[in-house]
Amino acid sequence: MSALARQHGAVNLGQGFPDEDGPAELIEAAVRALTKGPNQYAPVQGVPELRQAIARTNKRFYGIDIDWESETLVTAGATEALAAAFLAFLRPGDEAVLIAPCYDSYAPIVESAGAVARYAHLTPPDWRLQRAALLSAITPRTRLIAMNTPHNPTGRVLTMDELKIIADVAIEHDLIVVCDEVYEHLVFDKRPHIPLMGLAGMRERCVRIGSAGKTFSMTGWRIGYVSGPESLITGVMKAHQFIAYTCPPHLQLAVAEGLAMADDYFERFVAGMARKRDRIVEGLKGVGMEVLPCEGTYFATIDIHSVGRDDDDAFCRELTQKAGVAAIPVSAFYSSGDKMAARRYARFCFCKKPEVLDEAMARLKAYFG
Ligand code: PMP
Repeated sequence: MSALARQHGAVNLGQGFPDEDGPAELIEAAVRALTKGPNQYAPVQGVPELRQAIARTNKRFYGIDIDWESETLVTAGATEALAAAFLAFLRPGDEAVLIAPCYDSYAPIVESAGAVARYAHLTPPDWRLQRAALLSAITPRTRLIAMNTPHNPTGRVLTMDELKIIADVAIEHDLIVVCDEVYEHLVFDKRPHIPLMGLAGMRERCVRIGSAGKTFSMTGWRIGYVSGPESLITGVMKAHQFIAYTCPPHLQLAVAEGLAMADDYFERFVAGMARKRDRIVEGLKGVGMEVLPCEGTYFATIDIHSVGRDDDDAFCRELTQKAGVAAIPVSAFYSSGDKMAARRYARFCFCKKPEVLDEAMARLKAYFG
C-alpha cells in the first residue's frame, strides 16, 4: 500500500510510523554516545544501562520485579525479539497459537522454525477473545501462545477477563506466552496497561516484548527489549546471538535515558496520541464512516459497509488511487486463505501531524461527498 500511495501521491495512513521523531534529548544522547564511543560490539544481552532501565520500568509501571542481569535482553526492534522467541521456543512439529488478526511477522517465523501456526480468531465487531476460540486452537503439540495488547490492527486493549482466559489456558496446557506489548504506553482514556506477566502463575511463562520504536517514536532505531524469567530469556538470547548478535550501543544508551524520563513524558505522549485519535475518529465519522472503538495503539479501523463497500482490499486500493488516502485492509493481518478472515474493515494510522490528518480527511470528504 505504501508503494501504491507513492505512485498516486496519496496521504499515507497505511504503514504504522510516526511522521515526527521522538524526543530531541534522545537524539542528543545518541550523538554524545556516538562521538564519545566506543563504537564496538555491545554485549550480546545489551548494554547494562539499558538492561537496568528495562528492569526499573517493569517495576515502575507494573510493579513487576525483574533481575536486570538474568531477565532482560535488548533486540533489534520488537520484530527481532519475536523472531528470536519463536526460534528459541519452537521445534519442528510444534504448534504456536496466534490470535488472528495479528501482526504479520509472527506466522513466517513460526513456520521458519518448522512449527505450525494455529489460529484463535477474534470476532468482529468487538474483537473480544473468547475462551472457546482459544481452546479450539490448542492441541497436544501446542507449545506457545503469541498475544498482543494493545492490539494491532484492531486498536483493542484486552480486558482482565480476556487476560485471565489466556492465563488459565496457558497454565492448564503448560504453555509459554509471548507477549507483544509494543504499544504498552499507548493506552487511552485512563485505562491501565496490564501485562499478562503480572497475573498469578504467569511470571515464569511469559516473555514480555517492548519497543523503543513505538514508545519513543523512533521506529528506525530498531531497539526492542524483552523481559522474562531466566529460563526463557536464555533461549531468546541464544537465538538473538545468531540473528542480530548485538545492537548499536549509542542507541541503546539513548533509549536507557528515554526509559528513565519522568512520568510527564509518558503522559504527554499518550495524551497527544489520544488527541490525534479523536481528530481522525471525528474526521472519519464526518464522511459517514462507522469507526470501531479505538482503546490503544495508533490505529483506527472502520467498517466499510458504512460507505457501501464489502471488500476491504478493493476498498483500500480505491481509496488510495481515487481518494488519495492510503489505508490497510484488515484482511492483510490473516494468513492467506483464512476463511474466517474479516473482510469488511480498513485500518487508518493516525500517528501523523494534525495537518496531515486534516488533509486526508479533506480528501475523503471531497471523494465521498
Ligand atoms: N508488534 C506489533 C503488534 C507491531 O504493530 C509492530 C510494528 N508495526 C511490531 C511488533 C514491531 O515493532 P518494531 O518496530 O520494534 O520491530
